[in-house]
Amino acid sequence: MIKENMEFLRAADPELGDAVVSEWQRQQRNIELIASENFVSPAVLAAMGTVLTNKYAEGYPGKRYYGGCEEVDKAEELARSRACALFGAEHANVQPHCGANANLAAFLAFANPGDTVLGMSLANGGHLSHGSPVNISGRHFNIISYGVDNDTHRINYDEVHDIAMKERPKIIIAGASAYPRVIDFARFAEIAKDCGAALMVDIAHIAGLIAAGLHPSPVPYADVVTTTTHKTLRGPRGGLILCPEKHAKVIDKSIFPGSQGGPLMHIIAAKAVCFREAMQPEFKAYQQKVIDNCATLADALLAEGFDLVSGGTDNHLCLVDLRNFNVTGKEMQHRLDEVRITANKNAIPNDPESPFVTSGLRLGTAAATTRGLDGEDMKHIARLIRLTATDFDNKKEQIAAEVGEICAKYPMYEG
Ligand code: PLP
Repeated sequence: MIKENMEFLRAADPELGDAVVSEWQRQQRNIELIASENFVSPAVLAAMGTVLTNKYAEGYPGKRYYGGCEEVDKAEELARSRACALFGAEHANVQPHCGANANLAAFLAFANPGDTVLGMSLANGGHLSHGSPVNISGRHFNIISYGVDNDTHRINYDEVHDIAMKERPKIIIAGASAYPRVIDFARFAEIAKDCGAALMVDIAHIAGLIAAGLHPSPVPYADVVTTTTHKTLRGPRGGLILCPEKHAKVIDKSIFPGSQGGPLMHIIAAKAVCFREAMQPEFKAYQQKVIDNCATLADALLAEGFDLVSGGTDNHLCLVDLRNFNVTGKEMQHRLDEVRITANKNAIPNDPESPFVTSGLRLGTAAATTRGLDGEDMKHIARLIRLTATDFDNKKEQIAAEVGEICAKYPMYEG
């Protein structure tokens, strides 16, 4: 069906169809190690390509501004109730178009422009939408930030507490894009309570692990939990907000009409499919494999001589400090692209290089694990990454050939 759809598209629109087919081929040929990516199931893919895309449905189920919403109401209700069941939440808003929109709505719900918000700095693993000066969050709110401890590379909760008590933020944000360790949400909740802040937790990266019960959940502690649905959770590209019932109204208003217009009903349908998949026992087994593969990759990288930020990983990603190999993150990303390993450069704590260059490489196992790669493949990949760092010019053809052999073992979207 997937191939058939692509061929149909190519016949209808050759230029666009060619790009889609080439992207499918790229996904087959490359080992995907970008920590924020995954491969959705054929059912999730199918839901996105349905006629639900045709429907305007401003508002919420039962309270729409348009007629003809009976069927899309069912889809949104399914998505909402499944999200609540999956995460043990009292209320879910499934309409955010993306993670950044979910975060913006959380800001609007608990703070006014100019108010102080405390989040993890981008340089230490936070996300743009947590207060970067180039993002709406940083332009309209007074952002202060915490980082990680210089030696352990872990969040120093006492330091976060001290900053919070001094600055008295309206919101404290926990959650990150490049933090390889477990986050103590109960501790964050104590800090928020002490300084009178709302606690916002962005679980975009680790949502799948939390849904599977393999990382502690923030839901019992947070005023609002935001996430994307497309990373470890393995759903369509989109956002989700969870909150206690007492905050349901303000959250819903902050999404619509506060910051979005009509919801993407085909994507909401795909979110519903994703949440159902995430309730199955196979999903928990998958998430355990993601963690195991990442631990194996991290150990193998250490054995190959690489340094890792915080010395290892507890989750789906690890952060390589490349400085002892005398190669920057930018150069390493470029070399890996050439041998068809896809990853991204990333700042390490106190990075001497600029954010465009960086000294680090972020690697994640969610997508490769969906594809079927196992621990032996992870050890093989660690060796290929070391060769890419040390002997690229001599070995690049050999590395690319070995990447090709790994990919050939795990075909995808062939049906
Ligand atoms: N929050 C975190 C922690 C992220 O890592 C990301 C994306 O990488 C986002 C939010 C933003 O998600 P989106 O790209 O869907 O806006």
